[in-house]
Amino acid sequence: MSGSALYETFARAPLAFDHGEGSWLVTDRGERYLDFAAGIAVNSLGHGHPHLVEALTEQARKLWHVSNLYEIPGQSRLGERLVEATFADKVFFTNSGAEALECAIKTARRYQYAGGHPERYRIITFEGAFHGRTLATIAAGGQQKYLEGFGPKVDGFDQVPFDDLQAVEKTIGPETAAILLEPVQGEGGIRDFPMQSLKKLRQLCDEHGLLLIFDEVQCGIGRTGRLFAYEWSGIAPDIMAIAKGIGGGFPVGACLATEEAAKGMTAGVHGTTFGGNPLAMAVGNAVLDVVLEPGFLDEVKHKALLFKQGLAAIADEFPDVIEGVRGSGLMLGLKCAMPNGKVNAALRDQHLLAVPAGDNVIRLLPPLTVTEDDIRQGLERIRAGARHLSEAAQAAAQ
Ligand SMILES: *Cc1c(COP(=O)(O)O)cnc(C)c1O
Repeated sequence: MSGSALYETFARAPLAFDHGEGSWLVTDRGERYLDFAAGIAVNSLGHGHPHLVEALTEQARKLWHVSNLYEIPGQSRLGERLVEATFADKVFFTNSGAEALECAIKTARRYQYAGGHPERYRIITFEGAFHGRTLATIAAGGQQKYLEGFGPKVDGFDQVPFDDLQAVEKTIGPETAAILLEPVQGEGGIRDFPMQSLKKLRQLCDEHGLLLIFDEVQCGIGRTGRLFAYEWSGIAPDIMAIAKGIGGGFPVGACLATEEAAKGMTAGVHGTTFGGNPLAMAVGNAVLDVVLEPGFLDEVKHKALLFKQGLAAIADEFPDVIEGVRGSGLMLGLKCAMPNGKVNAALRDQHLLAVPAGDNVIRLLPPLTVTEDDIRQGLERIRAGARHLSEAAQAAAQ
């Protein structure tokens, strides 16, 4: 038997953290790391945010769980606030991003069914997508490495190349129910859909009676400097999955929909035991208290600009390490000129945490509460890591 009692599914770094403070994580040996991974865009308000700690502990003293057999006032309140802040009229709470996507997929299929088109169940998705690790969401994501060995791929997903609108038009058929995409691909390597493409996809959906589903599990909750990334495009989806940042570290997800899109989701057709429980809702409401505060998102945009400019300067200085900077807000990517795993390790040596992504990119996803000083320290560490790699590469070439 190998050393651990845990499934070997994760390639973990040999680091264990004891506690966190804002953008910093402290190991069990007292070493401080600058956390620009933020639990993969989850710790939206950093570590140990006093408002979140208070909301969770106060709720923990009162009531943890009752199930959805009863009214949950915190859930109604968070639902109303999300409706107020978005295109949506209806919300279903889950515990994870994949479950939010499952609900989104079921909502779209049920909409077509309720509208007299049970034959419309297929969903068009894009290469490079990531929608989770359940059987349906690996089929939606379409990545061979996640599908292999898990039996027949769940039917009903048609994948087209990234941002290929002609391929979308060709793929739409009598069985198509919806189009699903991340406005900014996260795992796929911080790739944005151009605004024009989002507008065109909205048009195609309207012309063909399809629903537009956005997966904002990673790019939502302020990451791009707006509450949701779709706001930049001037169009809105019919259904949207969110998770990660809304819980700030507590497992929370949600599927949002217009009243029309949710019309098939009637009593008894879907459910969850834990989803939307009082603890999760207390934290979700507390995250929104902070993110919706006037000026908070302006501050995110301001800090993001500072960070991106600094990163661009480092890319100019070390083009043999970093080919370019992509993304917007505090969802940035370094396109690497050498294997991204090597760059990630060099950053970790500088005690800076980042996340590798597809397309040979390193993701930088600091907490939205990152300070300008944290950003300056982060840039210093990234420059030092890039310098080491550049010098090592030059030495090896001689
Ligand atoms: C992380 C992620 C998911 C899956 O979320 P889980 O909570 O891991 O199930 C789905 N879509 C996107 C865009 C993600 O980044």
